[in-house]
Amino acid sequence: MEKRRYESPVITRISAGVTDKFGMKPRIKNISDIQDIKVTELVEKYGSPVYVLSEQTIEDTFAEAKNAFTTRYPKVQFAWSYKTNYLNAVCKIFHAQGSWAEVVSGFEYAKALQNGVSGEKIIFNGPTKSEDDLRLAIKNKSLIHIDHFDELYTLIEIAKTTDTKPRVAIRVNMDTTIYPRWDRFGFNYENGEAWTAINRIMVEPTLDLVGLHTHIGTYVMSPVPYGIAAAKLADLAVNISKKFNHHIKYIDMGGGFASKNTLKGAYLPGKDTCPMFDEYAESIVNAIFNSAIEPQHLPILIFETGRALVDDAGTAIASVIANKRMADGRRAMILNIGVNMLFTSFWYDLEIYPAQNVSSHAEDTTIYGPLCMNIDVLRAAVKFPHLQKDDIVVIPRIGAYNMTQWLQFITMRPNVVLIDKQGVTHIVREAETVLTITDSERMPEYLK
Ligand SMILES: *Cc1c(COP(=O)(O)O)cnc(C)c1O
Repeated sequence: MEKRRYESPVITRISAGVTDKFGMKPRIKNISDIQDIKVTELVEKYGSPVYVLSEQTIEDTFAEAKNAFTTRYPKVQFAWSYKTNYLNAVCKIFHAQGSWAEVVSGFEYAKALQNGVSGEKIIFNGPTKSEDDLRLAIKNKSLIHIDHFDELYTLIEIAKTTDTKPRVAIRVNMDTTIYPRWDRFGFNYENGEAWTAINRIMVEPTLDLVGLHTHIGTYVMSPVPYGIAAAKLADLAVNISKKFNHHIKYIDMGGGFASKNTLKGAYLPGKDTCPMFDEYAESIVNAIFNSAIEPQHLPILIFETGRALVDDAGTAIASVIANKRMADGRRAMILNIGVNMLFTSFWYDLEIYPAQNVSSHAEDTTIYGPLCMNIDVLRAAVKFPHLQKDDIVVIPRIGAYNMTQWLQFITMRPNVVLIDKQGVTHIVREAETVLTITDSERMPEYLK
């Protein structure tokens, strides 16, 4: 028998008869492997911290989402939201599944081209598109989603000088009962601005209005607002066909489906409250079918789902640097991964698990990252077992936004590893070195 390791004793107040909100004592489980690969092995091979992505999980989640919509509606298209995770390997997996690309900057647009996405399958969203970006998108026949009147006027000017007719859609914002309302993007539905923009485009012979778009928010925890949004876009589509005898080709419902992470302050865990793809699909498809859109002109439904498709596929592995007692007696644990690498910890209570077997003795613990900053707190207070220096922790559900919003601050970004469907691991982004950072720095002569 292995000798059990020493743990310092913990004093816990007995609260007999009182259970937690689920009626039982929280049990601390450990996560020792990811897709049958030992976490310890991953750390030995790729270092700590390390991000791990699972191709199988991406494909399974995508299949679930796709099924929810294609079983209900005949014309469905997904477009991968680049900003959610634009590591090329991740984008390629989505493209191989049939996803188009959804980009919000010239940089992301270039990445989509690099990944072999043909121009007609790139949706160009966002408020920032330069004239050069627009010219390139027009030339490539991409779908340009106009965000504001200034962009519309610029497009009209550019279109006068191009052979290709820009394929455009407008982004529409609206009251979907989500508050605060996301009204800074696109044209408003209720005050008639969206209709004005449509009229302006329709009388412009150089522009081709092919679609309508909305992106109502992110981490939307109810399917209802999507039904409201789909009904409003369908209403615009019907009015366009009545007035101009023009039938738009698609309605793009944007992204925003919730992932299974738990928002800070939420009473119940995200895995229990997050709607299923089926519920979102039911709400949206019903709204389209119940609208006055004629069956022969049913638009393609496009989805730019980001976080709900990739969050579960990403896991961070990190190590314990030290344990501490704070001045007030609280226990603190310091990890070698912090808020700079886990940006989503600002709004999620990320789950943190030990990789090794632990005893059932847990103590209220504050989990800190390695930064010299007071804000570097991953969990302010969580019942956690006692780990020792160099023990490993596993942080699941970090596939969305962490690998794009990460900050090169104080520490460098670690390896990102993909586990393919055969269980083989590949580095898809190398750990940064000092050179990665200093290569683009320049020294003025007088400081040399
Ligand atoms: C960010 C974004 C998405 C993806 O949103 P998720 O909440 O991650 O699903 C989709 N469309 C647009 C326009 C976006 O800006």
